[in-house]
Amino acid sequence: MRDGTYDYLIVGAGFFGSICARELTKKGFRVCVIDSRNHIGGNCYTEERDGIHLHIYGPHIFHTSNPMIWSWINELATFNDFTLRPVANYKGEIYSLPFNMWTFSRLWNITHPHEAKQIIAAQAASISGDPGNLEEQAIKLVGTDVYEKLIKGYTHKQWGKPPAELPASIIKRLPVRFTYDNNYFNDRFQGIPVGGYTQIFKKLLEGIEVRLNTDFFNDPLPAYGKLIYTGPIDRYYAYVHGELEYKTNRFEHRLDASTSNYQGVAMMNYTDIEVPYTRVIEHKHFEKNETQHTWISFDYPAEYKAGVTEPYYPVNDEANNEKYRKYKSLADAETNVFFGGRLAEYKYYDMHQVIESALEFIRTHLS
Ligand code: UDP
Repeated sequence: MRDGTYDYLIVGAGFFGSICARELTKKGFRVCVIDSRNHIGGNCYTEERDGIHLHIYGPHIFHTSNPMIWSWINELATFNDFTLRPVANYKGEIYSLPFNMWTFSRLWNITHPHEAKQIIAAQAASISGDPGNLEEQAIKLVGTDVYEKLIKGYTHKQWGKPPAELPASIIKRLPVRFTYDNNYFNDRFQGIPVGGYTQIFKKLLEGIEVRLNTDFFNDPLPAYGKLIYTGPIDRYYAYVHGELEYKTNRFEHRLDASTSNYQGVAMMNYTDIEVPYTRVIEHKHFEKNETQHTWISFDYPAEYKAGVTEPYYPVNDEANNEKYRKYKSLADAETNVFFGGRLAEYKYYDMHQVIESALEFIRTHLS
């Protein structure tokens, strides 16, 4: 098939591209997938090192409330019972995340929900009406103390700008609970695939032509009929409406042979502005690996440069969303080019949402 003509060229071997590839192949279409990286799986890619599966592009915890998506992914891997219960480290003080009664009792030395609610209401009194940005939204939800210690510094580091200049929607990802429940997600199903995520993509792409290290814009491409593009949409249209803003991260992965347990938890967030990284991931805790050593990763926020660094997060403020809408109308006018996934749809998707969106796209596309 290497020199043949393909019905579909799929750009990107993350969830959106790999799902489309599998479903189209099942229907008898000839499909070729390309990816500019040297591996499949996009940012979900995991790599085994010394008996531990490293989440190379940051922690990926699968969660969904959709039973259909949960059973779909369980066909592709065995999931363990991992529940994300991260801790925040603010200048050496340890707090429970997400914001819950453990956090509030540690912060204010209180024991009951009504006490926490009273303190938050007093601290949030200055915010009236609909919060216009992340800072106002955070103070309204959890008050100024939590905001100052656990949100302000982390958010500024992560996004490279003060929370007052960011959309309120970002902080609404995190639950706020007046119960002693430190599960980071509200979803019904949660877990980590035993053996890592890469196996899922290997299964999705089994028997399909995949060309790695192949850049859609610069490398020779096979002949094809239709295109499914999952990269940044502004790049596809040569930035005609200007660059969309994304955020990116840089990971420093380190083997620590001196200990079998570095931080006692999979994810520790460093929430003050002075520590240059946002979080440290200790991968063995995802799968409870019994090893004498450990692998840890430092997550540094980094500036995104279009076409140079990998985009990770869309910055969905009004100006960028408005720009995106212009690209979207170009995309809607296409007949043989289709866009999907976090970068092409400019949406802060979690894994289960990309999967849902890809399955839905295929369903409507083929009907
Ligand atoms: N956040 C924070 N403090 C934390 C964790 C998260 O202020 O300790 C804020 C921050 O603005 C972050 C957002 O909540 O960008 C969403 O966090 P999430 O953990 O969902 O980010 P992701 O896992 O997508 O990197």
